[in-house]
Amino acid sequence: MHIPAELAIQADADLKEYNTLGVPARARYLTTVDSTALLTQALRFAQEAELAVLVLGQGSNTVLTHDFDGLVIHNQLRGVEVLAETASHIELRVAAGENWHQFVTRAVNQQWFGVENLALIPGLVGAAPIQNIGAYGAEVKDVITAVEYLDRTTLATQTLSNNACQFAYRDSIFKNALSDATVITAVQFRLNKQATLNLGYPALADEAGEQPSLASVYDAVCRIRTQKLPDPAEIPNAGSFFKNPLVTAEHHQRLKSQFPGLVSFATGEAYKLAAGWLIDQAGWKDKEVAGVRVHQQQALVVINPANRSGADVMALAAAIQQDIARIYNVQLEVEPRIY
Ligand code: FAD
Ligand code: NAP
Repeated sequence: MHIPAELAIQADADLKEYNTLGVPARARYLTTVDSTALLTQALRFAQEAELAVLVLGQGSNTVLTHDFDGLVIHNQLRGVEVLAETASHIELRVAAGENWHQFVTRAVNQQWFGVENLALIPGLVGAAPIQNIGAYGAEVKDVITAVEYLDRTTLATQTLSNNACQFAYRDSIFKNALSDATVITAVQFRLNKQATLNLGYPALADEAGEQPSLASVYDAVCRIRTQKLPDPAEIPNAGSFFKNPLVTAEHHQRLKSQFPGLVSFATGEAYKLAAGWLIDQAGWKDKEVAGVRVHQQQALVVINPANRSGADVMALAAAIQQDIARIYNVQLEVEPRIY
């Protein structure tokens, strides 16, 4: 097999630094790409060598359950470009390898509104549309106008409009019909130059002060998150391990009479349950199985301080899922992507 020298491919690479759960899985090959030309070359190499491809940003929403017998492409495409600007809005094209939080910080510093509630979410811009990242009542779909990607089979460049991305709660076409079929190269955003704050979450409204501003909301989000959530650089984790489940009004009523403290939110006809509350009440907080632990402050977060395997992480997740199904008759769905 001919391995192109420009790709600087590393064989039998340790992926521990490439996933925030710190799982020590290995990749048969690993390459870092910082241009679309290199990315195309990497995809072509994988096709010719009949290798499976896994694209990783920061690996903060990924569980590696085994060694990857293929080519891991670490996306480092950089650049931010202004596409259009009016008195009220700015349109930007941000390369997929840009750091998400740095992009948010830049927007806030420029007085551009729309992404401040999503501050401190780990990961790269290219992964943001995949699960339609969200926090404090905001979702990235609200500011995305289009997503640009390379088709992994044809290597052609494609652009999907916001509508075509089929965004939903922690979901998009990139987790369904186009799952592992694309490499996102850039995301186009439309941010507001006029003040529009989203303070629907009381915890954020309380923390943002009496006269909230773009900067105070951003600071509040950063403060709350720093206090509550483990920093993956210090304690390996992948954020919320489960999605908040939706149940019918009838199911919700039954649970509410059995568990009066149930934390839930009406969403249209259905109810969203706080999965962290269910897990906490089931007694899982701070519990450990085979070195993998439920975080002591936020039971929705699984931490992996001993760098155990992805299989060990999934064993704890399965035990939690079984318990939650038994106690509440609710099926918890894992949020990160499993490989
Ligand atoms: P990765 O884990 O590298 O990739 C995730 C998936 O996307 C994988 O399937 C990967 O193959 C694919 N992928 C990545 N880049 C590309 C690309 N360019 N093209 C095609 N496919 C690609 N999420 C939220 O929604 N809200 C939160 O508030 C939030 N808080 C978090 C807090 C912590 C402490 C942690 C650790 C995680 C949190 N997350 C949150 C989850 C995570 O940060 C996001 O999902 C983030 O967008 C993942 O980015 P990443 O670059 O690390 O993706
Ligand atoms: P929290 O404020 O303790 O709230 C617990 C749960 O209740 C959250 O999951 C949230 O749902 C829901 N919630 C709270 N107030 C709500 C309201 N007014 N309306 C509707 N739902 C409400 O949560 P947290 O753990 O500290 O996280 C804060 C925010 O960051 C949340 O939005 C959360 O989704 C996000 N976050 C996500 C991840 C991840 O990996 N996905 C990790 C950390 C934090 P939602 O989750 O639907 O918002």
